Amino acid sequence: MKNLMTLILGLSFSFSAFAAANIFLDAQERDVRNKSFATLAARAAMTSSGADIVGNGGGIAEQNMRYAYTMLAKSVNYCLVLPQCGESDNQLIVLEKIYDIARRNQEREENILFLSDKNFNDIFRTDLDFDHRVAKTGFSSEFPIFVNIDQIYEAELENDLSAMIGILVHEVGHQAGVASHSFLDALASEVRTAFFRAQVVADTVVGTSKVSLSLIGGLSAYDNQERLLFVGDKKVTLNEPTAVYVCHTPGTKLVASRLMNPAWGRAVAREGGLMVRLRADVDYYCQRGEKGFVFIEQAQVDYRFLFQISVKPTRVSELEVLDQELRLRTSLAPDPFYGL
Ligand SMILES: [Zn+2]
Repeated sequence: MKNLMTLILGLSFSFSAFAAANIFLDAQERDVRNKSFATLAARAAMTSSGADIVGNGGGIAEQNMRYAYTMLAKSVNYCLVLPQCGESDNQLIVLEKIYDIARRNQEREENILFLSDKNFNDIFRTDLDFDHRVAKTGFSSEFPIFVNIDQIYEAELENDLSAMIGILVHEVGHQAGVASHSFLDALASEVRTAFFRAQVVADTVVGTSKVSLSLIGGLSAYDNQERLLFVGDKKVTLNEPTAVYVCHTPGTKLVASRLMNPAWGRAVAREGGLMVRLRADVDYYCQRGEKGFVFIEQAQVDYRFLFQISVKPTRVSELEVLDQELRLRTSLAPDPFYGL
C-alpha cells in the first residue's frame, strides 16, 4: 500500500512539474521547427527588403508597429502589477521571458520586418489559418517578426497601439518557445488591456480630420510618460512640459511629469490655419537627491497647436501640425505633498 502511495505521489508530483513546464516546446522539437522556419525566414527577409515593398518601415502603421515594440517591455510591466495579470505560473513565466526578449531586441533594427499581403501568404502559406495571417515568427528571438502590413491597414489598426502590443506579445511569446496560439492570445489580451488602462486618449476634430492625443504611462517618477498626437498619417510628440517648469520644493530637482485630464478647445481660424488649444493638469515629480523622496507639484499646462489644412485631389483634406507652443498656466504650484 505504501509503495502504491509513493507511486501515486511520485506520479502526481511529476505531472504537476510537467504541467508547469509543458507550455514550452522541448529543445529538440524547437530545433526541428526552427530549422524549417529558417528557410522561410531567409526568403521573407529578402523579400521584405526588396523594392516591391514601397516604403518598408515608412508608413504610419510601420512606424507605430516599431514604436509599439519599444513599448512592449513597459506594457508587460503594466500588466504584471495588476492582480488579474499572469494568474497562472505558466503565464508569469512566459511574461517574464517576453519582457526579457523585448528588452534585448528593443534596439535591434530587424526586430520587425514588413511584408505585403501577397508575399506574406506566398511565403508562409504552409500552416496559416485565418487568425494568424497578421504576423509570423519562429521559436527563437533571433528571428524577426514578419508583419503582414496590408492586413494591419485592412483591419484599420494602423493607429491602434494596444492592438499592436497584443500582436507583438503573441509573436514574442512564440519566440520564447510557446507553440499554443490560444495561450498566447489570452496573454496578449491581458497585456493589451493593461496597456489600454495605462493610456489616456482624447480625440478632437480639426477641419474634417480626427486628431487623437495619447498619454501613455507616467504612473511614477520612474515611468516616463509618452505624449503623442496622431494627426492624419503622422505622429507628433508633444513639447516637453518639464521644459517650462522649475521645482519649488527646496532641494529638489525635476525628474518627470505626467499630464492628465486633457481637454481640447475648439479650432479657431488663425494665421492662415486653425489654432487649437489643449489644456491639461500636470503633476511634476520633484525628487530630493538621487534616490530621495519624490514630491508631487501640481500645475496646469496649455498647448496651442497651429494646424494647416491642405486639400489634395485624392483626399478630402490633409492635416499637418505647423507649430506647437506650450504655456504654463499657473506659475506657482499649490503646496506640494509627499508622493510615492
Ligand atoms: Zn500564433
